[in-house]
Amino acid sequence: VNVASNQGFRGELRIDEPMSEHTSWRLGGPADHYFIPADLADLQHYLSTLERDAELLWIGLGSNLLIRDGGFRGHVIAPFAGLNRLELLEQDEVYVECGVSCAKVARFCQKRDLGNADFFAGIPGTVGGALAMNAGAFGGETWQSVTALTMINRAGVLTERNPDEFEVAYREVHHREDEWFAAANFRFARRAKDEPSNLRQLLQQRNQSQPIGQPSCGSVFRNPEGRFAARLIEEAGLKGLQFGNVQVSAKHANFIISNPNSRAAEVEALIAHIQKTVLERFDIALQREVHITGETL
Ligand SMILES: Cc1cc2nc3c(=O)[nH]c(=O)nc-3n(C[C@H](O)[C@H](O)[C@H](O)COP(=O)(O)OP(=O)(O)OC[C@H]3O[C@@H](n4cnc5c(N)ncnc54)[C@H](O)[C@@H]3O)c2cc1C
Repeated sequence: VNVASNQGFRGELRIDEPMSEHTSWRLGGPADHYFIPADLADLQHYLSTLERDAELLWIGLGSNLLIRDGGFRGHVIAPFAGLNRLELLEQDEVYVECGVSCAKVARFCQKRDLGNADFFAGIPGTVGGALAMNAGAFGGETWQSVTALTMINRAGVLTERNPDEFEVAYREVHHREDEWFAAANFRFARRAKDEPSNLRQLLQQRNQSQPIGQPSCGSVFRNPEGRFAARLIEEAGLKGLQFGNVQVSAKHANFIISNPNSRAAEVEALIAHIQKTVLERFDIALQREVHITGETL
């Protein structure tokens, strides 16, 4: 149900929205409020009307997010498609709003011979999610190319920030609580005229090693220093393990696959089982990459 128009918003406000429709695991109970802003000004307006202590959850394409079966008591902000400005500022600098998909940025840059944006093609999320996760693929990482950030706070006020104001690590970024990514500027190196784009080849390689097309969240765990999480899980004998209605992928052991009967609680239980088994076997505590939020049933 869209109840936004009678409250003065141009975007769409849905009540009791099933989050299973917005996450790549296809899991998660209902969100009390789910807002799809029409544009940045509309989002600023929406945020400015919320109670000061309202719970907020930002979602991109839900490709790294486990929302529990009881759903989310608060406001989910879903800028995908709404916050969709993507512009070439100068020869090699690009302004992107958080709701643009990474695949779109990769295509946009490929057409303009901007080379090191290719890695974005491997990330099935939005630019907002990529900034929050420092997503990376094919040897490239999101924050390597960031030159400026536009942050938005819970009152809807925008602030420009420099990348050095953020603590950025492997698949992890610390930003001020109560501030989120509205947009960013990236500077991408220009590709030499005779240097071909190898995007297609990179994507083919990835399709061979990952269970693409089955519901997952990509890699569940970060690689521990000097080790591969997938290898550890495989060596612990867990590759392909069926665990209730969820499974450790038989193709890539760091992926957990769901099906239409799965519950988020089963994914969480399998994550704990993998962590326990790998700890016992190798004395290594696997750290999650995937974010988990929401209420249990
Ligand atoms: C098949 C598959 C392959 C994958 N391969 C890779 C890979 O190679 N490399 C890689 O790094 N990741 C990979 N991932 C994981 C995922 O795509 C990335 O982490 C991606 O950056 C998440 O983006 P999203 O828009 O889906 O974010 P979401 O999953 O929607 O959100 C992730 C987190 O970011 C927060 N967030 C979202 N938007 C904002 C915002 N605007 N401001 C502040 N916080 C925000 C959310 O609250 C949440 O905590 C893969 C996932 C899948 C399903």
